[in-house]
Amino acid sequence: MRPVWAEVITIGDEILYGQTLDTNTQWMGQRLNEIGVKIIRKVALGDQREEIVKGLDEASQRADIILITGGLGPTKDDITKKTLAEYFDTPLIMNEEILQHITDLFTKRNLKMNALNEAQALVPRDCTVIPNSQGTAPGMWFEHDEKVYVSMPGVPYEMETMMSESIIPKLREVFALPVIYHQMIQTVGIGESWLAEQIEEWEDNLPPHIRLAYLPSFGRVKLRLTAVGENRLQLEEDVAAQVRQLEPIIQKYIYGYGDKTLEEAVGELLNEAEKTLAVAESCTGGFLAHSLTSIPGSSRYFQGGVVAYSNALKTSLLGVLEETLSNH
Ligand code: AMP
Ligand code: MG
Repeated sequence: MRPVWAEVITIGDEILYGQTLDTNTQWMGQRLNEIGVKIIRKVALGDQREEIVKGLDEASQRADIILITGGLGPTKDDITKKTLAEYFDTPLIMNEEILQHITDLFTKRNLKMNALNEAQALVPRDCTVIPNSQGTAPGMWFEHDEKVYVSMPGVPYEMETMMSESIIPKLREVFALPVIYHQMIQTVGIGESWLAEQIEEWEDNLPPHIRLAYLPSFGRVKLRLTAVGENRLQLEEDVAAQVRQLEPIIQKYIYGYGDKTLEEAVGELLNEAEKTLAVAESCTGGFLAHSLTSIPGSSRYFQGGVVAYSNALKTSLLGVLEETLSNH
């Protein structure tokens, strides 16, 4: 099955200025991945006609699906709709259903409508209008030269509802999508290059439909196996078989799978062994105790902790020898 590629374009000066964090493309990345659409690029553009046109031209050379968020507000600074209508050479026409929806929204909220609000019901003639159940700006679905372009509002909950209610079901209808399956293996206590060296032979022998990624963070490395195919159960089995081969090679560094945290894994081991834990901390300032107690049920095994910051307290509370402190 040919993979379906998507590019996400987020439009808004506020994103480029750093005033708004682009959470939309993160959310979309997760949802698209679930349905087997591969994002090949994410682009952030300002509210500028030439930039948007260039962005659309470039995206259409790379991707099958171009998903656009932002720039659909009623004010003059938002130009996405107008630019799309020009780009696809289609006039903006009044959509009576959308106008009714906007009117209803204003009546419900006891607000007066003005010409700008009304103009939100103007939509490009040659597109499928996607209803916005959460707000006034409708979404737009264009098909052009075998590519799909979808424009959605920038407001996160409006975009998310529109994606879930309409866009994702429609993408599934229009494209034959593969299954993408991920398995995460959590490791601790070994750096990524050392880990890579130990598992090199296993990695080199992975079948072509399974790929490995190293996702390092402080003290830990997540190994992500990604399998692409047509049958989810088969992919789960294929990945499980690879994990079984990997386990004996790096057993002592693996603390869990999926999104398990290190503190959860510690709690499980303590519960199994029917042991309890207390901590004495200094420069971590109680962070260790905080992490351990962030797990529901941690009172079963966690006794408590001491944060001894000054040398005087280390000696008097914890019995650390003066000589140890001066030597180290
Ligand atoms: P707009 O569609 O341009 O009217 O955007 C409306 C609001 O949505 C903006 O003021 C931002 O706060 C928010 N927004 C736009 N794009 C994004 C994005 N990519 N991620 C998160 N919030 C966004
Ligand atoms: Mg905007």
